[in-house]
Amino acid sequence: MNEGEYLETVNDLKEQYITMKESLLLRISMLEEKQQTFRYQFTLTQFESPRPLAQVPCYTSNMVISMYKCRICNHWHPKYSYCLS
Ligand SMILES: [Zn+2]
Repeated sequence: MNEGEYLETVNDLKEQYITMKESLLLRISMLEEKQQTFRYQFTLTQFESPRPLAQVPCYTSNMVISMYKCRICNHWHPKYSYCLS
C-alpha cells in the first residue's frame, strides 16, 4: 500500500467515524427526549388515585402492578388511574 492509498483509507475511516458519531448522537438525544417525556408523565400521574381517602391504611399482598393501555393517549397507565390527556 503506497502513501496515497493509505491516506485515502484513513480519510474513508474518518468519514465513517464522523457519520456513525452523528447518527449515534442523534439517537442519544432522541432517547433522552423520550425518557424526559416518560419521566414527566410519571411525575404527573404517580400520586393520582380514584380510590376514596381512607382513615386506616390497608395493605395488600398483591405485588402485581397492573397497567392498561389507554385508548385516549395510547400510553400505559397504572390500573385504576385516570388519563389526563
Ligand atoms: Zn391516557
